[in-house]
Amino acid sequence: MRPYLLKENNWKYIKEASFDLAILPWGATEAHNYHLPYGTDIIEAEAIAAEAARIGWEKGSKIIVLPTVPFGVNTGQHDVTLDMNMNPSTQFVVLRDVIEVLNRQGIFKLIILNSHGGNDFKPMIRELGLQFPRMFISSCDWFKSLDQKLFFENKDDHAGEMETSLMLYLRSDLVLPLNEAGDGSAKKI
Ligand SMILES: [Zn+2]
Repeated sequence: MRPYLLKENNWKYIKEASFDLAILPWGATEAHNYHLPYGTDIIEAEAIAAEAARIGWEKGSKIIVLPTVPFGVNTGQHDVTLDMNMNPSTQFVVLRDVIEVLNRQGIFKLIILNSHGGNDFKPMIRELGLQFPRMFISSCDWFKSLDQKLFFENKDDHAGEMETSLMLYLRSDLVLPLNEAGDGSAKKI
């Protein structure tokens, strides 16, 4: 049981605990070339949020990681089998409900840890910040948090060298050998 992950803890512990900051990992369910699983963004968001929370917790921060939202904006991939689109207007309502709970329960800081390039929380945060003035709401795209060129030869935000490497580290059992991947060319619209 990690004390900073809501999904692993029980009411007995949670009702006595206090938290200052919530992290909401937000992924997507979509094809990642042929060789990575549909849950790639979810697995990444969850793992990065948990590790960030662990580091903060060990330094004394009162952090709680909420369960990961599994659906992202995939309007541009509507023709790909089982790419699960969640429209921005639906995301807004989901986010508002999460913020309403946090605000009512006195957890006034929220970071959305975004794992999917199609998600854009900035306009939502502007609007919801006005509705919930006590809340400090921010978002972070983990895949933009470092200069990829320092680590990878081929920069790519989707199913490329970075995500393949990360998935090999996190869940190598779910990654097909590279010779089974497609050529990775992006669809031109
Ligand atoms: Zn991805």
